[in-house]
Amino acid sequence: MKKIIGIPVTLHNTDFLCASFKKNEEEALCIYKGIPEGFANEDVIVRIHSGCVTSEVFGMENCDCKWQLERAIEIIAFSSAGIIVYLPGQEGKGNGLFNKIKTFKLQNVGLRSADAYEMIGLPSDARKFDFAIKILKDFGLKCIKLITNSPAKIMACVNGGLVVSERISVVMDNPNKTIRQLLENKRQHFNHFIN
Ligand SMILES: [Zn+2]
Repeated sequence: MKKIIGIPVTLHNTDFLCASFKKNEEEALCIYKGIPEGFANEDVIVRIHSGCVTSEVFGMENCDCKWQLERAIEIIAFSSAGIIVYLPGQEGKGNGLFNKIKTFKLQNVGLRSADAYEMIGLPSDARKFDFAIKILKDFGLKCIKLITNSPAKIMACVNGGLVVSERISVVMDNPNKTIRQLLENKRQHFNHFIN
């Protein structure tokens, strides 16, 4: 695994550090705060975030990814330490950007996102978190407070050898109709927490 770490950046008027990791075709961008040397001795706030160019770059309002990312940055900005591991290669639940847009067409005629992937012969969630967990361990993390609504992500961290001491919820207060439906679908299909 190749890495570049410790580059100062400013987000939300707060000093963060930036890092990037690469292993074969997988790449990650990390935004973090706190002293990595201390990470082994404390419960560090973590967000493992799958990239979503449609909402994060273009502001499309059919998912809550951008909101969740901004909320994670905010939570860490107000804490003494934390890490966001951003995975740009996990578009469309790990099925790629092209397939994601293909499902938009089906979602526009009423299909749930998970069903739309299955209808085009793909898994409803093909994401892998091994690389992110490897990065967290490289930072020396042992025990984390995970910002997520996803039980599968918690399980992935636990199975990867991390202790998840707490889940920090990231549920939108006033989602629009589409996102409300998406959250309900995630609850039904992936057992997502809704608070
Ligand atoms: Zn999204």
